[in-house]
Amino acid sequence: MARKKTALRGKPRKLATRRPSRPAAWGAAEVEEAFRRFAAANPEPKGELLHRDPYTLLVAVVLSAQATDAGVNKATPALFARADTPEKMLALGEVCLRDLIKTIGLYRTKAKNIIALSQKLIAEHGGAVPSTRAALEALPGVGRKTANVVLNIAFGEPTIAVDTHLFRVANRTGLAPGKTPLEVEQGLERALPARFKLHAHHWLILHGRYVCKARVPECPRCLISDLCRWPEKRV
Ligand code: SF4
Repeated sequence: MARKKTALRGKPRKLATRRPSRPAAWGAAEVEEAFRRFAAANPEPKGELLHRDPYTLLVAVVLSAQATDAGVNKATPALFARADTPEKMLALGEVCLRDLIKTIGLYRTKAKNIIALSQKLIAEHGGAVPSTRAALEALPGVGRKTANVVLNIAFGEPTIAVDTHLFRVANRTGLAPGKTPLEVEQGLERALPARFKLHAHHWLILHGRYVCKARVPECPRCLISDLCRWPEKRV
């Protein structure tokens, strides 16, 4: 027994040297209160990508990967004036499409994917955008996040698309910490009351884009500053 005590005294305690961990996830009452405030401030939040219908939404979301919505919105009015259906997109062709979206990052790959997904929509879905996750994710250039946006906005499903803004807000605040977008999405799925799920991703994306910004968050005008557990918040 005496020997054991001596050995423990000589060793620094692990906890003392551990780096600060991420904030613990919020409790149900904090989640409820935060979304009550978001809902009161903006009862019908909207996505900012210009579109006319499920097909143009799908194209806009594919174009928005690693690009800003504002940048996509500069290019899509001219594009949709010429091609707002899969058939018209194929008639436009990849070269013209590329030219119309060349201000958007990764435009060559995106043009290829939009042509390929338009072909697949015509071949397998009668030219319509499918309303299931599996069918959406089977389209070229469409991953989980894009499918979630289309399911939510075009088909009214309570899906939560985790983009860079939402990922930052969920981790920074402690609302739903996660190492990957999927972990954050699943954390929010578990934590959110059903009535907030349809609009949750819009509220959180808008919050991250305009208030809880990456470099300089505007904490003094933040609706949820008292609930936020980020040690560096400026309030
Ligand atoms: S208090 Fe600051 S860091 Fe926390 S959510 Fe609000 S803006 Fe973001």
